[in-house]
Amino acid sequence: MKLGCHASVFTGALDRAGMERAVTGTAEAGYDLIELPVMDPDAIDVSHARTLLEQHGLAVTASLGLTEALDISSPDAAVVAAGERHLNAVLDCVADLGGTHLTGVIHSAMRKYLAPATEAGVEHSQQVLGRLASRGRQLGVVVGIEVVNRYESNVVNTARQAVEFAAAAGRVDGGLAPVVHLDTYHMNIEEPDMASPVELTGDQLGYVHIGESHRGYLGSGNVDFDTFFKALHRIGYDGPVVFESFSSAIVHPDLSRMLGVWRNLWDDPDDLARHALRAIRHHREAAASIERH
Ligand code: MN
Repeated sequence: MKLGCHASVFTGALDRAGMERAVTGTAEAGYDLIELPVMDPDAIDVSHARTLLEQHGLAVTASLGLTEALDISSPDAAVVAAGERHLNAVLDCVADLGGTHLTGVIHSAMRKYLAPATEAGVEHSQQVLGRLASRGRQLGVVVGIEVVNRYESNVVNTARQAVEFAAAAGRVDGGLAPVVHLDTYHMNIEEPDMASPVELTGDQLGYVHIGESHRGYLGSGNVDFDTFFKALHRIGYDGPVVFESFSSAIVHPDLSRMLGVWRNLWDDPDDLARHALRAIRHHREAAASIERH
């Protein structure tokens, strides 16, 4: 189980200075892995990033949320095609970075929708993601779909929906099922409890985000991390576990608009990141001790 930190804890931009701040901060806090928000692959200096990652011994993954113009759940074929081109460009960037996973709100735009997803739109999304996951396997990158709350997508809001969505994507001609990505912040809003979605997803669970109910310091909100980590342990999950937190002190303005990050929940990223790693290890070690007694 690799423990990671989202780059938005440290920087709002992935230019060279931002990449340096995020990689050094993540490594110095003691993590194994950094997750980069790759909204725009052209904005990243890949060779510079690779050198930094190698220097600091960090594994790397990537995530993004699609914009409306790139929404693969659109009924408009031209928008879907633009989204698929963009996702393939991001996938190439992740492979070039030596990344292991590409995930996020890539099944729809990351936004509040004012109507339910359409059947045709969901099918478009499944077709694109089946193909993307298949191409990812050729490049050594696991593709995941992040289950997010109702205000950030209308396609996949629960683990049960994600499992069904992924299976349908896997049935696309030449397709492969993407893995399911659960995030405790979103689960806390949409799921019946913090264990059953993990158990229901089982070996299709391929990526985990750890976020508090207000996305601040772990333990300062109301997410039941004890139950969640016990469930991860019961299913034998050993994929990435990545801490995600957003504060108005750091976050990129576009992301803050999409995610509704209006409050300053912290202003010392290094302290926050070290604290989160201690908290995650504490829960993981407690869960792992259960069968020994
Ligand atoms: Mn997340």
